Amino acid sequence: MNKESNIRNYIPFEPSVKPLYKENDKDYWYLFKDNKLMMLKEEDKLILPRWKDVNELNVSLYNIQHMGADCGCNCHCGEIEDDVEVYGIEFLDLKALPEIVGEKIYSLASKANLLLNWLKLNRCCGICGSATYKKDSYTERALVCSNCGNTTWPRTSPAVIVAITKGDKLLLARNKQFPNRVYSCVAGFVEYGETFEECVKREVYEEVGIKIKNIKYFGSQPWPFPNSMMIGFTAEYLEGDIKVDGEEIVHAGWFSKDEVEKMYRESISINSELIEWFLKNH
Ligand SMILES: [Zn+2]
Repeated sequence: MNKESNIRNYIPFEPSVKPLYKENDKDYWYLFKDNKLMMLKEEDKLILPRWKDVNELNVSLYNIQHMGADCGCNCHCGEIEDDVEVYGIEFLDLKALPEIVGEKIYSLASKANLLLNWLKLNRCCGICGSATYKKDSYTERALVCSNCGNTTWPRTSPAVIVAITKGDKLLLARNKQFPNRVYSCVAGFVEYGETFEECVKREVYEEVGIKIKNIKYFGSQPWPFPNSMMIGFTAEYLEGDIKVDGEEIVHAGWFSKDEVEKMYRESISINSELIEWFLKNH
């Protein structure tokens, strides 16, 4: 086995600023129009367009970036300027992708969305307001100010999510923005200069009024709306009575395994993974 295929087995997606392989008709293109991903209908399934398909459409592309390689195929992303109303082409909302096209394409489309948003938000320098340009580098993805040299890199905003148990029960809360009867683990954005663990304690105390202990790292998941990263934890109840803040959380409670099973709807979110962890281990 050569070195290249070793890498592909270990890391199926290799991020890269410039193409790792010679660009060709088989390159994948993650193209967006109005924040929706372009897919092609092939018989009864949807597939990601390759360069050959994109080229045939003869549309104008902008904000083009190279993402890296997926199992040895270059991946690019960009936006489509023109309206495309061609039979066999569909534009899909990012949040609908996991159920329609699976986790792999969702994950890569998420990366593409993050890069495209980063480019859009940093057209001008945050210090002097002058135009930025893409740094010419093989190793560093950056935008540099044409006037003062200020440099920005793709950013990720961390948020935490925590499954809190009390004996054989799990704490679930309903966010004001959720539809009726949809409950989840407690979550919130990390404040400046805060550790993840401090954030977990603060969010839980602010939103549901209880103190927790034994905070343990569970896993993480990119959440590209537009550039978050969910960091999952488990924790145990320490003290206090549930008292929701009424602002973000309108109801919270301790739920038994049977109750959680009835409420649970499978999705690819880390919230689902945390709930599955509870169901398996309690
Ligand atoms: Zn500047």
